Amino acid sequence: MNTDADFARYARPEFARLFRALNLDVTYLAGRGDHLTAGSPGDSGTEVLDLVGGAGSSLFGHNHPALLDVARRCLDEQLPFNAQASVRPGAAELAERLSAVVGSTTGASYVVTLGSTGADAVEGAVKHATVERRRRLAALQEEFERSLRRIRRDGLADVPCASGPAAGRRCAEVLGEALDRIAGMRRVDPLFVSLRNAFHGKTTGAGSLTHGGNVPADLHVPGPRHRRLDDWAPGAVVTALDAELVEICSISVDAAGVPHSAARRLSPLAAAFVEPIQGESGVHEVPVEVLAALRELADRHEAALVFDEIQCGMGRTGTFLASEGSGVVADYYLFSKSLGGGLAKISALLVDERRYVPEFGRHHTSTFADDDFSSRIATAAVELSAAYRDRIVELGELLRDRLSEVAQRWPDAIVEVRGRGLLLGVEFVLPQPDSGLLREVFDSESLGYLIAGRLLHAHRIRVIPTLSAPTTVRIQPSALLEPAEVDRIATAFEDVAGLLAKGDYATLLEH
Ligand code: PMP
Repeated sequence: MNTDADFARYARPEFARLFRALNLDVTYLAGRGDHLTAGSPGDSGTEVLDLVGGAGSSLFGHNHPALLDVARRCLDEQLPFNAQASVRPGAAELAERLSAVVGSTTGASYVVTLGSTGADAVEGAVKHATVERRRRLAALQEEFERSLRRIRRDGLADVPCASGPAAGRRCAEVLGEALDRIAGMRRVDPLFVSLRNAFHGKTTGAGSLTHGGNVPADLHVPGPRHRRLDDWAPGAVVTALDAELVEICSISVDAAGVPHSAARRLSPLAAAFVEPIQGESGVHEVPVEVLAALRELADRHEAALVFDEIQCGMGRTGTFLASEGSGVVADYYLFSKSLGGGLAKISALLVDERRYVPEFGRHHTSTFADDDFSSRIATAAVELSAAYRDRIVELGELLRDRLSEVAQRWPDAIVEVRGRGLLLGVEFVLPQPDSGLLREVFDSESLGYLIAGRLLHAHRIRVIPTLSAPTTVRIQPSALLEPAEVDRIATAFEDVAGLLAKGDYATLLEH
């Protein structure tokens, strides 16, 4: 087998070319804690400090002993993997744990839909919010039909409303118009919003919520109807979709038999999605006021607010939910990445039980959802997240302080260090070399990868840039990182920042 050639031909042709060009065409043979062993089978290999894991998935490092124990026990017990259409204890336990942990912050209880990947959870949320909206509109239609029947039965059809926005208009006409508008709204496709620079995954539905700045237009396949919120000013967020609102009037009859009208609103908005800390666009905290404005937007449209905590949740920032300190509560929460403890592919969509559509769980299924193997590992990962909480906070502060010192020493090379806990990003200044050729090499798409190459080959540290903002290098170590390694990381970034600031591009590129 020729791994390089097979990878290039059968697996990821474009990546193979890119990795070769950037000197990142390495193979990792083993992983333990924060370390990977790079090399070829049979080699003794080279130890690399891994600050990426699975793009934020390795909060507990590679092959954490407690998680390996759980995995081994599952294998030793010959736990069935394929036991669809049965009561699955692992899934039940995980769902209860996730509901309790999130509920301890939000005060709510959740129904948990398990899936395999982050995008899978996002698709589940898109679907559930669509169903929720349909059900709401159908219930509203029934309510207005009932109201119209009552008005007719009580001989009020031609009586004018005594007050409210429809004052002076005949009751039957007001309700007839409302029913027309509800029927019209039921024919309108649901609408979703996400923020500028959002990342929610790459499947068709999730991809339409993702702001794919650096994805070629012809690789974008449209999913559900979507609006991007470019302006994050809280006032602009709250009113962003006001033009979509359709006014209707309901009618209530008082004790004296007099009809009064009241304004109601219909909206096509099904859900607003947000990552409390935007990961892939360069580690940007979404300000609390923006989260609160999104809550208000969702309430204004009776839509669901979805916190995508796939990358920032599970304790990576020092609290189980990255959104915990904001005081803003969402209706749906999404987890994946570190939920699988680095061993299993698993994701979870939590829906507030007061909103959950019971039949959803019957119809939204997958062969690979709910398996006990992944669920048991994930339950153990949730426990680890609590056990490492203090360590994550301490390490995160130490790492951020040390990197901020480097940034202060080299303001010409580093824009800033951002993030919380073990979700940090170092944004580099795009160099402007005199040589036109070098300017081509150091473009905004490749800078982070060139830095990754230097860190890998000169310092044996593995980083990659964030996906849609590749001038930012992500630093997402595990909670097992030794404080002594923080010095090593700071020294490596000092070297790279110095080379960039001094314009020593040759050394940076030589590896
Ligand atoms: N949401 C967020 C916030 C993410 O960071 C990611 C992955 N980077 C996803 C969704 C998609 O997850 P997956 O790659 O497992 O589909």
